[in-house]
Amino acid sequence: MNVLDFEKLIRSERTAKHYMLTRCSMVAGFRCPSCSGDRLYEVENGKRRRCPGCGHTFNPFAGRYLNNVKLSANEWLWVVKLFELETSATVIASETGISYPTALKAIDTIRSAIAEPRGSNGGAPCGCQETDRRGRLGALNGNGAPGEAEPIADNTILYHLSLGNDCLILTERSPEYGCLVCRDRRIDVVDHGKGFPRLRVYCSAKGFWPFAKERFVKYHGIPLDKLPDYLEEMSFRWLNRGTPLFDLILERLCHYAPAGTFRKRPRAKQLAH
Ligand SMILES: [Zn+2]
Repeated sequence: MNVLDFEKLIRSERTAKHYMLTRCSMVAGFRCPSCSGDRLYEVENGKRRRCPGCGHTFNPFAGRYLNNVKLSANEWLWVVKLFELETSATVIASETGISYPTALKAIDTIRSAIAEPRGSNGGAPCGCQETDRRGRLGALNGNGAPGEAEPIADNTILYHLSLGNDCLILTERSPEYGCLVCRDRRIDVVDHGKGFPRLRVYCSAKGFWPFAKERFVKYHGIPLDKLPDYLEEMSFRWLNRGTPLFDLILERLCHYAPAGTFRKRPRAKQLAH
């Protein structure tokens, strides 16, 4: 969506909300967060919905990712637009007038929404599901064939993401492997942990990793527990490069969030670089 079309959406709070409600109904029908009933009617001039089954009255975005942050429809659309343009939380806060913590929370919510649908099976990220389907990752010494790979312990893999025919694997710096085998392909170390001191990155030398790394270095450190969401965001941007992302991001936010998605996570070690 270009800025001229975007301008029409944010003409008023009413037009912005209408657009969001339309997108939400396309993604998943409205239902009562208390009893899941879907026979609802509007109250308070359409601001809320009521379920005749249990009498519950609720915000129409209840249960969806969008409802994790208290923003007006106009503010949400601006945040999505600025996130699409890879703007920082500081700039989003100053351009929209929302507080910095709220901007940060909105961005974290977008990242969770982008990461979740691909890993909806038990919360495992996409790459891990691929690992299970295609067999374990292996380590290879010297110039051996992929079939000669030795199994490696699961707990040495920090993160594994499948990207088309490529794989991205992050391990701690030790133990170190010369190369890994993923989906019957050899993948070599592309980052020896100079830029990201605690990590060793295995991936193709061209393509995704340079794209992601160029963006990661702007953050001056990423909390380790949030790294999977950052990687999923980068893989989303990479796989959809050349495509306008605004509606794709909004669609993810319109999904219902699995229970427990927004429980507070303990602060984790920072992944400095
Ligand atoms: Zn109900």
